[in-house]
Amino acid sequence: MSVEHGVWHAPGRVNLIGEHTDYNDGLVLPFALPQGITAEAARRDDGVLELHSGGQTEIVPLEGLRPGSVKGWAAYVAGVAGALGEAGHPVGGATLRFTSDLPAGSGLSSSAALECVTAVALNDMYDLGLSAKELVPVAQRAENAYAGVPTGVLDQSASLLCTAEHALLLDVRSGLSSQIPLELGGFRILIVDTNARHALGDGKYGERRAQCEEAARQLGVASLRDVKNLGEALSRLKDPVLRRRVKHVVTENHRVEATVGLLKAGAIAEVGALLNASHLSLRDDYEVSWPEADAAVEAAVRAGARGGRMVGGGFGGSVIILARADTLDTIREAITTRFTTSSWPTPDYLIATAAPGAHRLS
Ligand code: ADP
Ligand code: MG
Repeated sequence: MSVEHGVWHAPGRVNLIGEHTDYNDGLVLPFALPQGITAEAARRDDGVLELHSGGQTEIVPLEGLRPGSVKGWAAYVAGVAGALGEAGHPVGGATLRFTSDLPAGSGLSSSAALECVTAVALNDMYDLGLSAKELVPVAQRAENAYAGVPTGVLDQSASLLCTAEHALLLDVRSGLSSQIPLELGGFRILIVDTNARHALGDGKYGERRAQCEEAARQLGVASLRDVKNLGEALSRLKDPVLRRRVKHVVTENHRVEATVGLLKAGAIAEVGALLNASHLSLRDDYEVSWPEADAAVEAAVRAGARGGRMVGGGFGGSVIILARADTLDTIREAITTRFTTSSWPTPDYLIATAAPGAHRLS
């Protein structure tokens, strides 16, 4: 049933493990956060999107909308309407007022939250009847083509498909996903926004993707997911950089599988070692870590955390730390002290719990 207006919410996400695997047809294990973006939306039939966020207003006529025609944050929103039209589900316009409690650019996927909240709102208001799963490629197309950011399918899948108290195991190759109970017991997952954004990161994501494609080409496989024998693959690659990239992607997929096994066995504490291994792999083999992330993980582990790792594309953003609830104060203090020593701005802390995916609030 279509609705004239309403309020919708889409969450940010954190990826427990499986970093830089999504565009290699691999495995990821994100969960949705309670923090996200809310849209108060009303349908209008004049072919215009009127967008409000953080005191800014953007007016986007739907006529002539195409990839590249809208700049700035409005591209993420208009891109959803554009991608719906391309997929044979045209919409006629809307007023959308966004409010957010998700820091933008921290690696918690505010961009996907913005796309996904728009997607669920338009889907309901225009009675398109698309499932959350069908909205994933629409939101991804908004990000890739309209906002011009070449990310994989992880963020939009997480924001749309996650459920409360579960992590989402997504196999990007098959498109199949399953809900894995995230039972933390006496443990907590602490998100540390390192407040570092290194400009270097802008081109590096595309460079990593290109390196993975080149390695797959040299190995004669469709994607790095097809590498079954790591030792043999490494021996066939001459370029040491490509060898390191492949090693990360292949071992990271194994770590996702191992994490799922531990979660199913109720052994959350043991996930810490896998987080540490993931971080070292991202730091040394994939080379996307940044000094503040390395320092935060080191300080946390020294202060008693079970493990931690950088999350997101790299070169800035957040890390996650797995620790017993009664050690969190000590750990936060240790990280803050470490940052002060290097004269870095104090990081921001958030305790992550697994919240529901995008949905209508009222
Ligand atoms: P992340 O997704 O990790 O937060 P990105 O760089 O992918 O970081 O996305 C951040 C961009 O998303 C912002 O620069 C802005 O264009 C857009 N964005 C995020 N949150 C909002 C918001 N509440 N209102 C408007 N634009 C937003
Ligand atoms: Mg993003």
